[in-house]
Amino acid sequence: MKKTLNIPKTLKVNGHTYKVIVRKDREIQDGSYNQASSLAPNLTIWIDGRQSLSRQESCLIHEIIEILNYDFEIGLSHEKITQLETGIYQVLKDNKLLNSKKIS
Ligand SMILES: [Zn+2]
Repeated sequence: MKKTLNIPKTLKVNGHTYKVIVRKDREIQDGSYNQASSLAPNLTIWIDGRQSLSRQESCLIHEIIEILNYDFEIGLSHEKITQLETGIYQVLKDNKLLNSKKIS
């Protein structure tokens, strides 16, 4: 049994539909290394597929917070975004609210 993520191909946030792209050659495409990033104007979320499944899930949460921070002009620092990511991920994970699927 191989565990796979429930990372959607698209994600609606505030009425906008984002493409979620998991790639293992991100820096070749982008010119720089990031675990993940979001381009709100282009409606794209990138996630580095070389990370563990748990890191990819956590990265998706991070990018959602980044988009909310952008759309609502909350003004969170990147450090605060990462802190919220870590806290929210821990609660979802420890309470089994993440819906990772098992495929054979
Ligand atoms: Zn970030």
